[in-house]
Amino acid sequence: MLTDSYGRVATDLRVSLTDRCNLRCSYCMPPEGLDWLPGPDQLTDDELVRLLGIAVQRLGITEIRFTGGEPILRRGLAGIIARTAALTPRPELSLTTNGIGLARLAGPLHEAGLDRVNVSLDTLDAETFVRLARRDRLPDVLAGLAAAAATGLAPVKVNAVLMRDANDLEAPDLLQYCLDQGYQMRFIEQMPLDAQHGWRRENMVTADEILQALSSKFALTPDDPGARGSAPAETFLVDGGPARVGVIGSVTRPFCGSCDRVRLTADGQVRNCLFAREESDLRTALRAGADDEDLAARWQSAVASKLPGHGINDPGFLQPARPMSAIGG
Ligand code: SAM
Ligand code: SF4
Repeated sequence: MLTDSYGRVATDLRVSLTDRCNLRCSYCMPPEGLDWLPGPDQLTDDELVRLLGIAVQRLGITEIRFTGGEPILRRGLAGIIARTAALTPRPELSLTTNGIGLARLAGPLHEAGLDRVNVSLDTLDAETFVRLARRDRLPDVLAGLAAAAATGLAPVKVNAVLMRDANDLEAPDLLQYCLDQGYQMRFIEQMPLDAQHGWRRENMVTADEILQALSSKFALTPDDPGARGSAPAETFLVDGGPARVGVIGSVTRPFCGSCDRVRLTADGQVRNCLFAREESDLRTALRAGADDEDLAARWQSAVASKLPGHGINDPGFLQPARPMSAIGG
């Protein structure tokens, strides 16, 4: 098992398949993009599937989420999903994506073994989309969402980050759209993980503000807190239910005490937290011929040293060197 010194057990693995992206969301990366990982640094499909096998068969990982960057840009995505779905015991497989290309790929990915998707959608207004993501792709995202639902990927979750003076007034409209379409809406507080280091606490739209904005149009009733488990989202019944909305207050309502996640970057580094300042290099060991037992032991010791919390609210907080897009959000 992947246990840390505070008794938490990691069972949920987030895997970044690439640091590249076809959008440039302003809370994530600069307009010009970033220096992408050189190809040879990236794990090959075979290397990646081997590490996923170790995670599932030796380390107790039961859930794998593919993310990035934009995971749909990873060539061979369907093959990676199919090979991961063939592992025993079969892990639950999900994808976090900006939705571009999902209209064409939702069916094949579902057939390959994908169980669920989270699609990021910050606005329903095409001009605001261009302002936030610096690309004119809103119709592609909406088509991707519709295809995911039509093909039976369930539930379809929608993630939104609210930015002051950009899309913060859209929270009720986004929720209404998701209620109409049968998607589960979740709002995420903006975190200090952008490549430009432009995050400012005073600009962040807080969980309290999000709930206040939603309450102007909907009656929200807190869900049974016992049912939350290690889920980062606090959920609320909307207008008596059964529909729900989630709010992920990573900064103002941290959930580190019940965190069950561990991360693997596209270049084979284990990170025990989004905000970790240290990584454990599995790729070099793997390429030097380490056996499965050795790789599993390295992974265990990477998780063992996980800190109790992300420290964003500490005066000495330092943002990690890698941005969200290179860690795998
Ligand atoms: N490209 C995919 C996407 O956008 O869904 C997957 C990677 S993206 C880094 C994963 C999630 O992180 C998205 O829902 C995105 O909105 C969120 N995200 C990115 N930067 C963030 C930040 N600074 N604070 C909070 N969430 C962020
Ligand atoms: Fe790309 Fe996702 Fe970052 Fe937006 S949030 S720039 S879609 S990686």
